[in-house]
Amino acid sequence: SHQIRLASRPEGAPRPENFSHEDHAVRPPETGEVVLKTLYLSLDPYMRGRMADVESYAEPLQLGDVMVGGTVAEVVESASEALHPGQVVSAYGGWQSYSTAKASSVRVLDPDQAPITTALGVLGMPGFTAYAGLLQIAKPTAGETLAVAAATGPVGATVGQIARILGCRTIGIAGGARKVDHLRELGFDVALDHREGDLAGRLRDAAPEGIDIYFENVGGAVWDAVLPRLNTFARVPVCGLAASYNLTGLPPRPDRSQALLRAVLDKSLTLRGFIQNEFAPAMFDDFLHDMGGWVREGKVAYREDITDGLDHAPEAFIGMLEGRNFGKTLVKVAEH
Ligand code: NDP
Repeated sequence: SHQIRLASRPEGAPRPENFSHEDHAVRPPETGEVVLKTLYLSLDPYMRGRMADVESYAEPLQLGDVMVGGTVAEVVESASEALHPGQVVSAYGGWQSYSTAKASSVRVLDPDQAPITTALGVLGMPGFTAYAGLLQIAKPTAGETLAVAAATGPVGATVGQIARILGCRTIGIAGGARKVDHLRELGFDVALDHREGDLAGRLRDAAPEGIDIYFENVGGAVWDAVLPRLNTFARVPVCGLAASYNLTGLPPRPDRSQALLRAVLDKSLTLRGFIQNEFAPAMFDDFLHDMGGWVREGKVAYREDITDGLDHAPEAFIGMLEGRNFGKTLVKVAEH
């Protein structure tokens, strides 16, 4: 199996030399296991956290470990009654061309129902993150105003489109003109470029009646612009802080945590962090049903950014953290 492993821990933005490229024999399956050929690898922001040796909701990778990641794969050898060669599954195979996994740990996909890549995006973990964060934490009602950044990515784009289905007015924030154009195609009522100046002023104009839901994907300067616009009883699902994943420490500026708490108190805000797997046991089946329907009916569109070849995964990953991806970041590893 061709593998990409963690060679050294990044300081700041990851660099190609943080990854090593190696070939190793595929471990034969034990009873109940299968050998999987990776077709597509998902690249996600959380992987930056796994590369760092810091306390987090998940254990860090050790140096020399294969990089982790969700995959869509084909069963090529089976020692399980449950699966047979040729089936396509969603798995957690990591950055490698073959993996050996428990049959019980994978989910069989039906390529006739939806393109198999969607199992890593709109119909997979990122789409579920949007669905669960909105329904469990934001609880939108028709007529409310929702804002979300990283809004062309798989989480943000899905958040905006579900909120629209639920009757919200939606403000999408993204980096660069072509992403802003795409936000309009996705049906966002307002599309803002966070790289242009005076985001706070443009947000004020875009939401004269304030913001009821801010789905937090990025933190940083976008959060600074949004906080003053939040309405009483606004809900903020804290999903990710992509603006800070490559920072080595807090930016040098005054500690404003008291001002934040003051706003939480004065405006009765709800800030609630979450990791999507909290909600998966209770909601993943509902999600597949609802989102599968919305995608089939064309109510939820999705965009993918596919890089060809496993060896190019590091550069695609490095680019994604800086916003060079345009849609769900995937690596095509092998032909189906
Ligand atoms: P994306 O494909 O949206 O990629 C990340 C995006 O973050 C970039 O494309 C870029 O978009 C944006 N970004 C990077 N730096 C900045 C910055 N300084 N200011 C504003 N935007 C920035 O990723 P996903 O859709 O996969 O994930 C979105 C968020 O959701 C991430 O924070 C991720 O960690 C989080 N997440 C959380 C989960 C959970 O369980 N809590 C599960 C899955 C994802 P642009 O060019 O538009 O600025």
